[in-house]
Amino acid sequence: MPDRELTMLETAHAYFNETCDLLDVEDGLRQVLLNPWRQLSVSVPIRMDNGEIRVFNGFRVQHNGVRGPYKGGVRYAPAADAAHTNALAMLMTWKTALVDIPFGGAKGGVQVQPADLSEGELNRLTRRYTGAISHIIGPQRDIPAPDMGTNAQVMAWMMDAFGQTNGYSPGAVTGKPIELGGSYGREAATGRGVCDIAMLAAADIGIDMRGATVAIQGFGNVGSFAGQRMVEIGAHVVALSDANRAIYDPAGLDMEEVLAHNARVGSLENCPLGEVITNEELLELDVDILIPAAIEGVISTENAEKIRARLIVEAANSPITYGADAILADQGTTVIPDILANAGGVIVSYFEWAQNIQRFRWTLNRVNEELYTTISHGFDRAQEMAKERDLTPRKAAYAVAVGAVAKATELRGFI
Ligand code: GLU
Repeated sequence: MPDRELTMLETAHAYFNETCDLLDVEDGLRQVLLNPWRQLSVSVPIRMDNGEIRVFNGFRVQHNGVRGPYKGGVRYAPAADAAHTNALAMLMTWKTALVDIPFGGAKGGVQVQPADLSEGELNRLTRRYTGAISHIIGPQRDIPAPDMGTNAQVMAWMMDAFGQTNGYSPGAVTGKPIELGGSYGREAATGRGVCDIAMLAAADIGIDMRGATVAIQGFGNVGSFAGQRMVEIGAHVVALSDANRAIYDPAGLDMEEVLAHNARVGSLENCPLGEVITNEELLELDVDILIPAAIEGVISTENAEKIRARLIVEAANSPITYGADAILADQGTTVIPDILANAGGVIVSYFEWAQNIQRFRWTLNRVNEELYTTISHGFDRAQEMAKERDLTPRKAAYAVAVGAVAKATELRGFI
């Protein structure tokens, strides 16, 4: 065990290497699967509203394209540097392989705090970034989508900017507004998929979802929809948080009221419901299910021993550090890994892309049903592997995913 916390990229590499050891993947093939196939680093200059010019760093990392066009979100965050984007791109390769959708893995990033930019500045930034990567994206090449700090509006600007030189191409970007060819259910998809997976995992370890207690860290696009869905399926969401406030009510929070406050204020700040706790305390609550849906690395070797939840569903990408993952496994905590838990977003992105290229719209019911079919298939594949080889859910999910990409590479015959 390393004596310091691994970075996100080191963590991604460590899980990958362990999986290759388990599957006996030969060294040369490991290199093909480990290294990103293409990493583009671009400079994104824009004129700010005050007349000043600022230059932001942008990236698009195409990790692996063996199973189809590269696919993955674009993150606007100060931490979205080359290494970060690289790690997230690799997770996308395993995610699409595990749930068996016909894409490779990619990720984009711009190092910016989007909350500090006006709408006009964000629009200009998005257009400039899209222009800088437009020669490597497209409906059959690489299809961006939302991630942390981006949303349907940013995707609409990306589609528009890409279309200016390439013609109308809704399939070039997913997570678009419904009015521009977005899919019903895409916005809620990651949160919904998190709950589908939580239900399956809970049933497996004997937690009854009706009345189960749930704590959710993060109230953005993933956490807020996961919270609503949890209430719909009869669980008690006892704690919620965003960067401004964490609230706790052992009897269950009134989700409608939390949503109304969030819509009014734009955050949970000053939300009068429940008792105010800290984000750290939320993670350590004695609940059945913990859903970290905010940022990476929140469960580390510092607090892993204090986690009391029986089941953790990784709604964010990489919320548990490598060291913490081992501690949780020793404690007997069931951890459903990000590459499975949050795959609902990219699954419905796939449906959106399929609808776009067929010029055909699905109903919300169809989207949600097919989401369940696809994500539960990923769950079953990982479960089967876990039982067969006595692995944790993360190790099993990686074994299925890396195995599938390795096999597809061999079949392609290019090496
Ligand atoms: N950003 C999401 C993820 O990390 C969705 C990606 C997509 O829809 O392509 O999985």
